[in-house]
Amino acid sequence: MKNSILIVGAGFAGSVMARELADAGHQVMIIDKRPHIGGNAYDTLDAQGIRIHPYGPHIFHTNSEKVFQWLSRFTEWRPYEHRVLAQVDGELLPIPINRSTINRLYGLDLDEAGVAAYLDKVRIPKESIKTSEDVVLSSVGADLCDKFFRGYTRKQWGLDLSELSAGVAARIPTRTNDDDRYFTDTFQAMPALGYTKMFERILDHPHIQVQLQTDYAQIRSQVQPKHTVYSGPIDAYFDYQFGKLPYRSLRFEHEHLSNTEWLQSVGTINYPNDHAYTRITEFKHLTGENHSGTSIVREYPEAEGDPYYPVPRPENEERYQRYKALFETESDVTFVGRLAQYRYYNMDQVVAAALKSAEHVKEKLKP
Ligand code: FAD
Ligand code: UDP
Repeated sequence: MKNSILIVGAGFAGSVMARELADAGHQVMIIDKRPHIGGNAYDTLDAQGIRIHPYGPHIFHTNSEKVFQWLSRFTEWRPYEHRVLAQVDGELLPIPINRSTINRLYGLDLDEAGVAAYLDKVRIPKESIKTSEDVVLSSVGADLCDKFFRGYTRKQWGLDLSELSAGVAARIPTRTNDDDRYFTDTFQAMPALGYTKMFERILDHPHIQVQLQTDYAQIRSQVQPKHTVYSGPIDAYFDYQFGKLPYRSLRFEHEHLSNTEWLQSVGTINYPNDHAYTRITEFKHLTGENHSGTSIVREYPEAEGDPYYPVPRPENEERYQRYKALFETESDVTFVGRLAQYRYYNMDQVVAAALKSAEHVKEKLKP
């Protein structure tokens, strides 16, 4: 181990780092406590052979040509633009809110300028935008906020919109036109053979050794790598010495329906005000597979369980900064990824962060 780099976590952060460092000539050992690679982006087949995402729907989108090109070394792509409807007042309406959402919800027939004028009338201007409530109220006003955002957010985070930083709700734009795509990024596509196959190819390198079902906590005191890359939760690494950082968890309820080819007209339906789950995703929309049945997942937010989401709010950021100050003193360890950097990162942002970190590590370990 002395001449190797140890990488903790085989998700996007760890796997991209592993490949970059192996390509640069380093020996790499990558471990994960789970029995598979891919982290939360791992995909597999359900019992009837439909590709599913066990840890919730993962839709790839990016504006970064660099990230897209890097991943394209390891996968072909299937173009896919995600669309989402929200069930509100018994109707299925486009989210992000667009012209059609407003016209159908209120029985109007506004053109784009009319929608812009409508939003100007209902929005509640804020002097400064600090919280997610500020974001939503200042863009769509109180009624649309209550119908589309307040309930969903309460369910998803166990918090009010006013208790979350602006960046959370700012992920969802407001539109005056009819664009009903969830994302508008330049590159929107799914790995043609799935995420797991892409990860297998990223990690397929003579300098990379993969060891699954291995918890860093168990081996930490026995190994002496020349450098460590850590992509697990940052508070766990430091033994929670400044207290636990909250991570929101989810319970995924997967179901295969063999008596119907399709359940819903789009990839995801959000339920801001009904049910204990936030959304239902039907995987065949994402993957383009043909099958006589269909496979879906419902997401139930939970306080305890595997860490899935950092919780963006000022007091958590303060605590994270204390951990960060500590890790900046650890010159033999690099912290990267959604859990280690405590950032609400999408997959492409994690790839970008890992590519950047890999450059630093290569520089540091130069003979
Ligand atoms: P992870 O994928 O969490 O990988 C970290 C790995 O470290 C895990 O496999 C874990 O088992 C391992 N690990 C942790 N601690 C230890 C330890 N002590 N020892 C050994 N191993 C350890 N992003 C998008 O771009 N589009 C989407 O549509 C999208 N949808 C999402 C839906 C859900 C429900 C969730 C939760 C996330 C979604 N994301 C999406 C975000 C995406 O999952 C992340 O950006 C990305 O997977 C993070 O990669 P990572 O390597 O940082 O972390
Ligand atoms: N959100 C909402 N209503 C929706 C969709 C999103 O209130 O119909 C809010 C909610 O707080 C959610 C956040 O916007 O957590 C980000 O949504 P996104 O779909 O990006 O969440 P993710 O896919 O990361 O779970």
